[in-house]
Amino acid sequence: METITGLGVAKPNTYPNVEKITYKPAELRPTDVDIKIIACGICGADPHFVRGDWGGPHLPIIPGHEIIGHVVHKGSEVSDEEFKVGDRVGVGALADSCASCYRCKHGFENNCRQAVTTYGNHVSMPERQGGYASHTRVNSKFVFKIPDNISTEHAAPLMCGGMTSLSPLLATGVSKDTRVGIVGIGGIGHMGIMFAKALGAHVTALSSSEKKKQLALDLGADRFVATDDPDFVEKNLDAFDVVVHTGAFVNNKMISDMTKMLRPNGRLQLITGPDLEDMSLNLNVFDLIMNNANVGGIASGSGAQIKYMLKLASENNIVPMVETINISEANVKKAWNRLDSNDVKFRFVLTGYDEFFK
Ligand SMILES: [Zn+2]
Ligand SMILES: [Zn+2]
Repeated sequence: METITGLGVAKPNTYPNVEKITYKPAELRPTDVDIKIIACGICGADPHFVRGDWGGPHLPIIPGHEIIGHVVHKGSEVSDEEFKVGDRVGVGALADSCASCYRCKHGFENNCRQAVTTYGNHVSMPERQGGYASHTRVNSKFVFKIPDNISTEHAAPLMCGGMTSLSPLLATGVSKDTRVGIVGIGGIGHMGIMFAKALGAHVTALSSSEKKKQLALDLGADRFVATDDPDFVEKNLDAFDVVVHTGAFVNNKMISDMTKMLRPNGRLQLITGPDLEDMSLNLNVFDLIMNNANVGGIASGSGAQIKYMLKLASENNIVPMVETINISEANVKKAWNRLDSNDVKFRFVLTGYDEFFK
């Protein structure tokens, strides 16, 4: 594999336009595999990365970290037990880590300070790019077999979005009858409801209006709370052991409201990043003290957690709501525009790779 061609952003301030970009991947290491991509989810992170909302952007950039494809080639140290040529596999947001620090040795490689994201950080550029491309070359430790009963288009959004929705539930020890609140019923939140149910939790979906009530209940939520009810906090005091905030925006009132609804020693988990200028929170110290409240964040998941996530999805028939769209310059632009206006239910998945990259 001499070069890889994909769709991405090469010049500053051209978002949401994409163009064909060809790059030379890093040399194949003994633990690497080459994957021929057949689908890739469009994650909410993609526009953030290419616009430079989180720093950079380090152009050129081919986004995409919800990759599904087939192994077409592997390095000398990748055994047949790990992967065979032809295996259908997935890659999420993380492509590599140092493997030697405390975090890597204790199953937190997603928090490794030397972690290499699948695309979009200066460490990986320009030799590693994302999944809006014909192929990718990646460390096999960050590649995962897709269970047979999960279709390709449904597997794609699980790789980042699904893991991101499950991770805070695992970190907080959610299990049978834990009272969980999922705030925001969108790309991440709708999967969060399903994963929380799969873990046996009692799940309340919280959304800005009654509009998504039926959908939330259909996804398995036990209760629904509309946050445009001025009394929703008072009505839900001590309702939750764990609240997961999945929305794109976090504000101080929201945080204050959520901590008040927690039971003592409850945990509020933040999992999605706002734009750089909105990163800081003003936490009311007394809200934390008087409620024994914990507010924390989680960065997607480790390799072991991704394996567990796929198993859980497979065993519980967790099927994300997706809209497939054939990969092309026009369709990526259209999808990003619609994502920006919240007009997708709930995750776009790029397909049609064979046709576009033939
Ligand atoms: Zn490390
Ligand atoms: Zn993502």
